[in-house]
Amino acid sequence: MKKGRLFVVSGPSGTGKGTIISRVMERLENVSLSISATTRAPRAGDVDGVDYYFLTEEEFIKRADEGRFLEHACVHGYYYGTPLDPVTETVESGRDMILEIDVQGAMKVKEKYNEGVYIFILPPSMKVLRERLTGRGTDAPDVIERRMNNALGEIAYIDRYDYGVVNDDLDSAAEQVLDIIKAEHCRVLDGEADKIISEYGEEN
Ligand code: 5GP
Repeated sequence: MKKGRLFVVSGPSGTGKGTIISRVMERLENVSLSISATTRAPRAGDVDGVDYYFLTEEEFIKRADEGRFLEHACVHGYYYGTPLDPVTETVESGRDMILEIDVQGAMKVKEKYNEGVYIFILPPSMKVLRERLTGRGTDAPDVIERRMNNALGEIAYIDRYDYGVVNDDLDSAAEQVLDIIKAEHCRVLDGEADKIISEYGEEN
């Protein structure tokens, strides 16, 4: 059976990557979204086990030491990690898996998982990013400053990604991510060419 593909989506907070991913999930059947673990406190509307697994720092470190994360990183002062087993099980079962993780995490996954597809969501401009972060009304001004600085630090990694999608308009950004996923399913992966050639050869 053909394995599923791993899609890693990163981008600064406020670029709308979460909303883009929700749109993409609505349109595709054979894909799961990884649920990360975090030590940050739940925000209003966050549901444990749906948005994140909310863990104490002690529990997070224990799981990290036990090797239960595919990657983990410290983002904005809190730990975030991708539980390993669901990723392996999903991909092995032939379903695609989407990870929405920061650049540090994405780079760690890239070291381990060569066949992942790395998509970076960009804001139309820094000015628009600032307006979006301010408009959310959830973060204090110093937090917004920190997120703006972090954003530039993350954008500096764009060359390590396979695709850059500018989220100017939500519909077209979601459409572009869907197109990337469709195109990636036609990619001839390492080692696949020989299999294709021999299958066609046998049939002839
Ligand atoms: P938030 O707290 O706003 O939901 O997420 C903050 C940042 O953490 C985002 O950039 C998000 O992509 C990143 N993040 C969420 N889950 C993970 C994860 O499992 N691993 C890593 N490395 N980053 C994550």
